[in-house]
Amino acid sequence: MALNRKIAYIDLTTGKIEAKPIPVKVRKLLLGGRGLDSYLVYNHAKPNCDPLGPDNACVISAGLLVGTLASATARTHVAGKSPLTGFFGSCNMGGFFAPEMAWAGFHHLVLKGKAEKPVYLWVHDGEIEIRDAGNIWGRTVPEAQQAIREELGDEDIKVLTIGPAGENLVRFANVMTGVKNAGGRSGMGALLGSKNVKAVAARGTMDIKIAHPEEALDYNKKFTDQVTSAKVSQTQGRLGTPFIWGSTNSWGGIRTNNFQYNQLEYADDMEGESIDEEVFGYAGCFACQVHCRGRYIIPSGPYKGVYDEGPEYTAQGAFAGEPGCTSKETVLVGNHLANIYGMDLLEVGSLTSWAMELYEKGILTDEDTDGLDLSFGNDEAVIEMCHRIAYRKNIGDILAEGGLRAAKKIGKDSIKYLIHVKGMSNLHSDERATPALALGIATGSRGSDHLRSRPAIDLYHLPEPVLRKIYSQPVPYDGPLTSDYKDYEGKPWQVMWQEICYDAVDCLGICKYHTTFLGATLPNFEEWTKVIYYNTGLEFTPLDIWTVGERGYNIERLFNIREGLTRKDDWLVDRYFDEPTTRGTPAVQGRSIDREKFKKMIDEYYQHHGWDENGVPTPETLSRLGLDKEPSHML
Ligand code: SF4
Repeated sequence: MALNRKIAYIDLTTGKIEAKPIPVKVRKLLLGGRGLDSYLVYNHAKPNCDPLGPDNACVISAGLLVGTLASATARTHVAGKSPLTGFFGSCNMGGFFAPEMAWAGFHHLVLKGKAEKPVYLWVHDGEIEIRDAGNIWGRTVPEAQQAIREELGDEDIKVLTIGPAGENLVRFANVMTGVKNAGGRSGMGALLGSKNVKAVAARGTMDIKIAHPEEALDYNKKFTDQVTSAKVSQTQGRLGTPFIWGSTNSWGGIRTNNFQYNQLEYADDMEGESIDEEVFGYAGCFACQVHCRGRYIIPSGPYKGVYDEGPEYTAQGAFAGEPGCTSKETVLVGNHLANIYGMDLLEVGSLTSWAMELYEKGILTDEDTDGLDLSFGNDEAVIEMCHRIAYRKNIGDILAEGGLRAAKKIGKDSIKYLIHVKGMSNLHSDERATPALALGIATGSRGSDHLRSRPAIDLYHLPEPVLRKIYSQPVPYDGPLTSDYKDYEGKPWQVMWQEICYDAVDCLGICKYHTTFLGATLPNFEEWTKVIYYNTGLEFTPLDIWTVGERGYNIERLFNIREGLTRKDDWLVDRYFDEPTTRGTPAVQGRSIDREKFKKMIDEYYQHHGWDENGVPTPETLSRLGLDKEPSHML
């Protein structure tokens, strides 16, 4: 059954592999996926280790429900100490890898030490082999996946891999499954590269016993109907996430020219509807009915005729909005290069745009760029930077170290223009008019991130009773809630609620688009109690699941504090406070974040969590969550 999947501990230095069951007690405390990963990273990454050294651990997992037929249970999670931020690193991606790993008998792989030479892992029906990857090292993501399938003689093998960026220890390298399922943010690809692990291949034919199969199928139909009946899911299935771009840009919520403006002008060519002209169909992940992944052929230019998948909303920001470009071709090509090299396109776009502003201000010169004209709006430069970063060529080598290290190297005033939180570049959204979204990126456990706590429905002007219905369950909340996205009131609770919701969905292995993220009517805690029970037999109340999410989030916080995080890391760069927006709707123009009100938001956010004024979980909170002896006593 789903509950008898194992954890494998793989020592890459010695080659020793040990598989252990996951006790039900631990499932009840952490469910699986990201929750159990945070625990494993806390215990297996040596405190204060070099993230690229052998003492770091890398955990690859499938969520609790992955391997069943429950809706969109497709997610692979990878965690470790981040080479980019030095704090908790984690990434989460769709596709088909995680279910295959579950059918092969494993829900978690804990990789420790370092292989002497490049290897890949072959996980199949209860067995794990460490195999030579000498002839695969150096290959792009799709090349490596195909080479492994050919070597093992099975086209159905699913491969999680790194690309050249991970091998070259680009600190924001991705882990990839399929063509474009990207585990981005925080550099888990570099972590695998540092261990000389090119890939993990999985193929499984082991049965998964479902606790209540008929009820599980019946309920899955209801769950799926709830997902597919939401307008947001239908739109996403029609245009992918690029549908978000046009509306956000129209009101002034897009960061452009490295945060100098908050709207991209003349953007018609790279909006969702235009990109859709090149898309010949939409694909989905395992057990998903939304199908949001565009399949496209590049229509023109040097890459004409090349196939890829996506692009996402983030690609539009990375290769158009932020560097001030307006070409669809640049978005499609940039997305393709990030996919085949295996790197976080959000970082690539943000750091390239930062370098462009440094170039504009004379901090970087032609000598520093080896003659590359880094002017805003230069499409060729944006594409060239993809190659240079992945292969660490001149200025690309500096940016491959991530913003904070690069700023140290470049010096002068460069740090002043870097848009980051905890050393991670911000998404291309402009949060100056939306305090809730600003708080989310300032406090996220893996650095600046829109997928950790973003209350996206805050932008919808939902009536207060609707907000109260959502945000008062499963924990009663009678504090303020307002429909105005510009307000500061009540937003800390919304941010914390979303944090716990997203942590829980990551524990289950369900896609975030199938919960309260972009839509207000999508499933959450109540529905999860049923899907867990019918598939695994485990009985949880909505409050139990909330507590699991809270526990996981506190373990990530404890990890970060152990690695040196303080309150000052939960903060935004000065531009948020000192430079008001200049474009967009009248409601948005002239907005900036108020420092004093933002400080109070952080205080309130800490209080909701049961953390002290420095953001440290109080003894009472740790005791309530069973973490009072630190997480290490639980297994
Ligand atoms: S909504 Fe999109 S990302 Fe999520 S599971 Fe479905 S296809 Fe994958």
